[in-house]
Amino acid sequence: MLTKVIMPDELEEAAQMILQGGIVAFPTETVYGLGAGIHQEEAIQKIYRVKGRPMDNPLIVHISQKEQMVDLTRKVSKFAKILLDTFCPGPLTLILPKKENLSHYITAGLDTVAIRIPIHPLAQKFIQLSGCPVAAPSANLSGRPSSTIFTHVKEDLWGKVDGIIKGDEPSLGLESTIVDVSVNPALILRPGHITLEMLEEVLGKGQIQYDPALLVRKEREGVAKAPGMKYKHYAPRADLFLLEGNAKAVKKKIMYYYQKKTEQGKKVGIMTVGKVSDYPQDFYRFLSKTGDEKQVASNLYRILREFDDLGVDYIYAENIRMEEGLSGAIFNRLIKAASYQIERVEDV
Ligand code: AMP
Ligand code: MG
Repeated sequence: MLTKVIMPDELEEAAQMILQGGIVAFPTETVYGLGAGIHQEEAIQKIYRVKGRPMDNPLIVHISQKEQMVDLTRKVSKFAKILLDTFCPGPLTLILPKKENLSHYITAGLDTVAIRIPIHPLAQKFIQLSGCPVAAPSANLSGRPSSTIFTHVKEDLWGKVDGIIKGDEPSLGLESTIVDVSVNPALILRPGHITLEMLEEVLGKGQIQYDPALLVRKEREGVAKAPGMKYKHYAPRADLFLLEGNAKAVKKKIMYYYQKKTEQGKKVGIMTVGKVSDYPQDFYRFLSKTGDEKQVASNLYRILREFDDLGVDYIYAENIRMEEGLSGAIFNRLIKAASYQIERVEDV
């Protein structure tokens, strides 16, 4: 099918596509989304088809203003109100009891609905012009790293969607924090830029729960509360390994792998944070030279995809374990992208 690149001053055209049952990729402050109008059942099914997304993985409904929530949810709890007032619009998704008539393709048959108000001006205007809430997962093929720049959306979805709105980059880089406020205490289902600490500050300690063990547990084994979290996710085509431990030993081990794989004719990427190293420069990438976590979040998916474009077969990540706040959210994505392959190295 013909895909049109839509410039920021052509949003009316994107809205028309939505109204006529089309699907359109659009930039947000987190990652690009792939949207359909919530009343367009066929378009919603098409999103799953185009992405290769399992049908039991529900979409997030994007709205431009809080008033639109009345059509989506039966009940906005006290916690939900506080979070809406504090963090919305912004990179936060709330899980709430769903209104009966909402398409079960949006919620994948669950009794709840995920709602988000993006703050990105293009996303806001696009939703507003569409005249209805827009259901959207991330604009990437299922399992691949989410798209944070226009080129990556194009790579995955060109010829498969009606339009792609070209945004100004870069974005925050990680998907929204998901908080289930249909339960008490509230529960973080996916960590992100709105951190546990920020949520505790407004809700009070003990009012919000997050299980940090989710970082190292394979949700595929059945503990996933956000259905999407159980699938292979965020993964580059290359086989990604995280190496941890004594700095010198990790470096030595990475060099060992580099030589071994290179001798076998394979391409090896090396990824690190916050230190200049004398690794071979061909496929060596910094997530951030200063160690700034916002920079790491913004660069992560772009760099994973860059390794793919370079035809890298193996990626070794040097000591990137980070546990709290935004860093914890970054590690949550990284460990999934690596399919939980972590090697601890102690001996030099
Ligand atoms: P994506 O926008 O691609 O990050 O996908 C949306 C994420 O929201 C997936 O991880 C879904 O599992 C999650 N999600 C959507 N609706 C719900 C819901 N009602 N309950 C829990 N998680 C949800
Ligand atoms: Mg996604």
